[in-house]
Amino acid sequence: MILEREREAVARYGRRLLEAGLTTGAGGNLSVACRQEDRVAISPSGMPYGEIGPEDVPVLDGKGRIVEGRRRPSTEWHFHLALYRARPEVGAVVHTHSTYATTFACLEREIPPVHYLIGFAGRRVPVAPYATFGTEDLARCVVAAMEPEVNAVLLAHHGVVAVGADLAAAFTVAESVEFVARIGFQAEAIGSPRPLPADEMERVRRKFRDYGRPPPGGGI
Ligand code: 13P
Ligand code: ZN
Repeated sequence: MILEREREAVARYGRRLLEAGLTTGAGGNLSVACRQEDRVAISPSGMPYGEIGPEDVPVLDGKGRIVEGRRRPSTEWHFHLALYRARPEVGAVVHTHSTYATTFACLEREIPPVHYLIGFAGRRVPVAPYATFGTEDLARCVVAAMEPEVNAVLLAHHGVVAVGADLAAAFTVAESVEFVARIGFQAEAIGSPRPLPADEMERVRRKFRDYGRPPPGGGI
């Protein structure tokens, strides 16, 4: 089986999406790129995450053709591939319909930066205009909204797309976006939260660049 490690990671992180409450059933999708080989392992379309094994994860080439796998690839392969083309540093893409972030997306409203963890997604989380799921049109909207140094966008009337260097990073972005959307929603329900100022978000974003990584040289 080619790309065994990547396909196993797609299956494992699909289950983590369920466990973290970021999706239900077969909603959303995720992929990981192997850039040296110009291949992408992507979740199968419409298959419940709890049932996906590595052999169910299709492998695509850079043009979206199936290289290996007996399942249909996610209908959203257009935007997954388009993001890898547009952002050379991106190694994984996670798409969810997580409920609080999608609530803001349905209002075509950005998530207010009321909590510093939004910094995992970048300076802000832009809203991409609505286009039908699974279309090249949607892929164009996603790529246009995903500005440099932005790691997540809301899809109007649909959900969230998060990117990262690997699946762990993209998952953390998706999780943080949902967390801050929920806090923002709750805070606005009982008060008028002040957003963090842009210069503070910039400071947080810089600190997140090496957050959770071992220190250079291995010292404390
Ligand atoms: P797939 O099951 O085809 O990945 O579609 C789910 C989805 O979220 C479409 O936007
Ligand atoms: Zn979707």
